[in-house]
Amino acid sequence: MSTSSTQNRVIGHWIGGAHRASTSGRTASVYNPATGAVQAEVALADQAEIDAAIAAAEEGFRTWSAFSIAKRQTVMFAFRELLNARKGELAEIITSEHGKVVSDAMGEILRGQEVVELATGFPHLIKGAFSENASTGVDVFSIKQPLGVVGVISPFNFPVMVPLWFAPIAIAAGNSVVLKPSEKDPSAALWLAELWHEAGLPAGVFTVLQGDKLAVDGLLHSPVVQSISFVGSTPIAQYIYETASRNGKRVQALGGAKNHMLVLPDADLDLVADQAVNAGFGAAGERCMAISVVLAVEPVADELIAKVTERIAKLTIGNGAGQDGVEPDMGPLITDVHRDKVSSYVDIAEADGATVVVDGRGFTVDGHEDGFFFGPTLLDNVPTTSRAYTEEIFGPVLSVIRVESYDEGLALINSGEFGNGTAIFTNDGGAARRFQHEVQVGMIGINVPIPVPVAYHSFGGWKKSLFGDAKAYGVQGFDFFTREKAITSRWLDPATRDLGGHGGINL
Ligand code: NAD
Repeated sequence: MSTSSTQNRVIGHWIGGAHRASTSGRTASVYNPATGAVQAEVALADQAEIDAAIAAAEEGFRTWSAFSIAKRQTVMFAFRELLNARKGELAEIITSEHGKVVSDAMGEILRGQEVVELATGFPHLIKGAFSENASTGVDVFSIKQPLGVVGVISPFNFPVMVPLWFAPIAIAAGNSVVLKPSEKDPSAALWLAELWHEAGLPAGVFTVLQGDKLAVDGLLHSPVVQSISFVGSTPIAQYIYETASRNGKRVQALGGAKNHMLVLPDADLDLVADQAVNAGFGAAGERCMAISVVLAVEPVADELIAKVTERIAKLTIGNGAGQDGVEPDMGPLITDVHRDKVSSYVDIAEADGATVVVDGRGFTVDGHEDGFFFGPTLLDNVPTTSRAYTEEIFGPVLSVIRVESYDEGLALINSGEFGNGTAIFTNDGGAARRFQHEVQVGMIGINVPIPVPVAYHSFGGWKKSLFGDAKAYGVQGFDFFTREKAITSRWLDPATRDLGGHGGINL
């Protein structure tokens, strides 16, 4: 945290359908990770701003929940069209604060857009059910209603995709959303707020509350906020889950990951090497679905390491915004503190006996010497007792572990504390089928390294990668953001009553 500087612009909130400057006097620095320069300060909300955001969202909910389905659908379609037409601007904002290359920023927007598109079809997904004559003369039906004000707390690594996992579905279902973005890349959320406004969303239905733990705790403890959707690291996910549950809220809290790729001896090693490099070093490894461990079933490890090393040598690293019209393969990490942490894991692995095959420590980019760069790193023979293996590194570090059999690889995956994603590479359908049945992980790729499910399925891991029982988006997303009423009704047969006239059914 720092005190506001007069030289830097201060990124504020979006409350009540408009930009709102902060008066809290607390800010944090927002960097351009490629240059290492502070490019702005972001407001860190105080209690008065938290209260104002929640009050505006409550007001927004009153307006929005009275909109007909047809009118809500018009706004959803308008938002989709605007996003599709202007996503290039958004990709540049992501890159300038996060550092990932522009094409990758565009990729995350497209994954978010898929959820927007799913949400445009919301009437079908929130309609209830009707059972006529459940008992004689008695009908039973159910309706789904919005929760009210819902909170979304997002991580730095997907400043657009993660908010779009939740907000379109929550809004389509009739809720109002208070989004607390990561303070490391806060601008994309404001851009989304302006777009919702332009699409015709009433004031207060999408609010951006900038801040840190204080803002998060404000949402967790507010009696107005009905649910929390969180994505971030496991210790914070657990804290969010426990605190929000204790306060009686519905909660889904997605945490960290350590994703393994199991390579069987019959796999196509060129395909495996291509995919391991893409999934290990894309977005500089700052993806919850990054592959961080390759389990090579012997005898393939030496050949696979040679192929991966060859490909790493060809990777280009630089400013994600590109230079002279050329985009590199990989950008910087989010902060210098995070880069140093990633570096320390390589030290740990080495001290614990791993071989550093490709060393990304101390990597610099010409002309960007102060940028937060870390070179792609390949480790071999990482001991499974090393913290470099058991903990999430969240950087461009790929560890190879040699195993003797499918069973040994499977046991290693299943012994981990995370269960987000995993992949198997093989040409044996029977082996793949066994893997999908036996592995204790929520999302599985078969010859696919980053198995992020499409919008009409749901995203979520097992174990310490997801606290709560509701995954993000898909049908589960609509279930999370609505609550059901079951109505049992009996209307007397008009023939039994005096309805005037001749006592018949002529109403
Ligand atoms: P983080 O946990 O540090 O922060 C996430 C959010 O929580 C931010 O908005 C932050 O401001 C807030 N926060 C941080 N500390 C807090 C505290 N003490 N109390 C209350 N709120 C707090 O995570 P990050 O570094 O922004 O993101 C990277 C992590 O997110 C990685 O662990 C990654 O695996 C995980 N992630 C998981 C998924 C998934 O789908 N499972 C997706 C993306 C990222």
